[in-house]
Amino acid sequence: MKKNTLLNLLTLLTVILFKVTFSTAQNSPNIIFLIGDGMGLSQITSGMYANDNKTALENFEFIGLSKTHSANKLVTDSAASGTAMATGQKTYNGVLGINPANVRFKSILEICQEKNYQTALISTSSIVHATPASFYAKNISRYNYEDIALQLSKHSIDIFVGGGMKYFNSRKDERNLIREMKSYSFVKNIKQLEKSNSKKIGYLTYAAEPPKASEKRTPLLKDITKAVLNKLDSKKTPFFIMIEGSQIDWAGHDNDLNYIISEFIDFDGAIQVALDFAKADGNTLVVVTADHETGGLGIKGGSISRNKVSGGFVTGGHTGTMVPVFSYGPNSDVFSGIYDNTKIFDKFVKSIK
Ligand code: MG
Ligand code: ZN
Repeated sequence: MKKNTLLNLLTLLTVILFKVTFSTAQNSPNIIFLIGDGMGLSQITSGMYANDNKTALENFEFIGLSKTHSANKLVTDSAASGTAMATGQKTYNGVLGINPANVRFKSILEICQEKNYQTALISTSSIVHATPASFYAKNISRYNYEDIALQLSKHSIDIFVGGGMKYFNSRKDERNLIREMKSYSFVKNIKQLEKSNSKKIGYLTYAAEPPKASEKRTPLLKDITKAVLNKLDSKKTPFFIMIEGSQIDWAGHDNDLNYIISEFIDFDGAIQVALDFAKADGNTLVVVTADHETGGLGIKGGSISRNKVSGGFVTGGHTGTMVPVFSYGPNSDVFSGIYDNTKIFDKFVKSIK
C-alpha cells in the first residue's frame, strides 16, 4: 500500500514537472511595441494633464531612459532612431535598416517572423513613413517612398494599417502594388478587417498622409489596435506588433500644443488597449517609448481642474533629450535603467529566446 502511494506521488510529480517544463518552453511572449513619434516627457505630461490628469502609462511596471543620438548626429531623425530600435544598429540620419558600414540588418519584426511569430504594423502616418518602414525596409533614404512601398509589397507582414495608398497604386512606374499583392486582402474599414478570413490583410487608411485626430481621422488608434490584437490573438502563434502614434512629432514641428495633446490622447487610448490585452493574456510584453523628442517643449503653466496646459518650444525640429521607456509584462524589468536606443532591440531579442 505504502509503496503504491509513493509511486503515485512520484508519477504525479513527474507529470507536473513535465507540464511546467513543456509549457514554459512553448510560451514565447507576444510583443506589443508602441512608439510615440516625438513623444518626450513634456508631451506625455501635457497630454496627461489635459486628459483629466491621467494616462495609461501610470500603470506600467518599469521605466527606463533611452539615449536617442544617431551614428552621425547628436539629434536624431525618425529613420535613424527607428532603425536603432528595430535593428540594434546606430545609423546616419535619413537611413533605414542599413548601418554606416553599408550592412543591411534584420529587424526585430523579421527575427520574430523567423521564430514563426505573426507580425503587424499600425501607424497614424503613411505606412511607408520612416518609423514603420524601419521594421521592414532597407533604404539609403527614408524619402524613397515608392521604393519603400515596393519593399513592403514583397515583405510578408501579416497585417498592416496606415495611410499612403498612393505609393502603392499611383506610382511613377505605373505598377499597381495592391493588385500585385495577391496573398493579401485589402480592407476599407475595421468591420471588413474583423470579418476577413485572409491570413494577410492590408488596410490603407488614406491616399496620402492621414489627417489630424482633431480633424476626425478614422479609425481611432485604440479601435484599430483592438481589432488587430483580436485578430492576432485568434491564431495560436505568438505575435509582434508595432503601433505608432505618428503625429505627436508633426505637432511638435508645428509648435502646436493642442495638436500634441489630441495626438497624445489618441495614442494613449491605444496604450490602454495594449495594457488591458497584456493583463488579460498574461504572456504579453508591452513596451512604450519615443524615437526622440520634438520641439523642445517646456510646460509653463495651466490648470489641473480645467485640464489646461500652456507651454513653449525651443525649436521647430527634434531635440537630443533622452526619452522614457515604459514596460509591462514578461521580461519587462530589463527595460529599466539608462541605455542606448539600440539596446531596446537587444532586450526584445533576449525576451523571445
Ligand atoms: Mg514616425
Ligand atoms: Zn520629426
